[in-house]
Amino acid sequence: MSAYQRIVIAVDFSPACKQVLTRGIELATQNQAAVFLVHVVEFLPPIDFGYEPIIVPDWYSNEEEIVKQAEESLAQLANEHSINTDHTIVLTGIPKTEITQHARDKQADLIVIGSHGRHGIQRILGSTAYPVLHNAECDVLAVRIVD
Ligand code: AMP
Repeated sequence: MSAYQRIVIAVDFSPACKQVLTRGIELATQNQAAVFLVHVVEFLPPIDFGYEPIIVPDWYSNEEEIVKQAEESLAQLANEHSINTDHTIVLTGIPKTEITQHARDKQADLIVIGSHGRHGIQRILGSTAYPVLHNAECDVLAVRIVD
């Protein structure tokens, strides 16, 4: 089996994310692969159901601020692990969709993801790992999170 060359690591900033990152970097080192870090900011437009649904106007400015903070945190994580910050990206949307698409865009041959993270362990595989496993066009490693 040929070595992995391009590894996407999905980082959710949960306490478990360190285990995912460590395993991904370990594999990248063994395979001399390029590492790409991705974080997805999830947004649900805040809707005021008080009278009738309206989009709260400062939603967009909040979004910018949250994305900026996530970019800073991801860059810090990248620096701590000597990962090129050009290989980090913060996307907005649904994590399972964005992670899979980003792996496709980067022509990744491996996605490293936690078995569960912020959404807990409601299922054997969390709400993100399971759909990524089914929709990815490359190998997926679900790192078993030890709580
Ligand atoms: P969950 O399904 O939320 O329990 O998370 C399982 C794993 O999916 C996490 O350990 C991360 O690797 C990945 N993940 C979940 N949410 C995100 C997110 N917003 N951005 C990047 N990766 C995520």
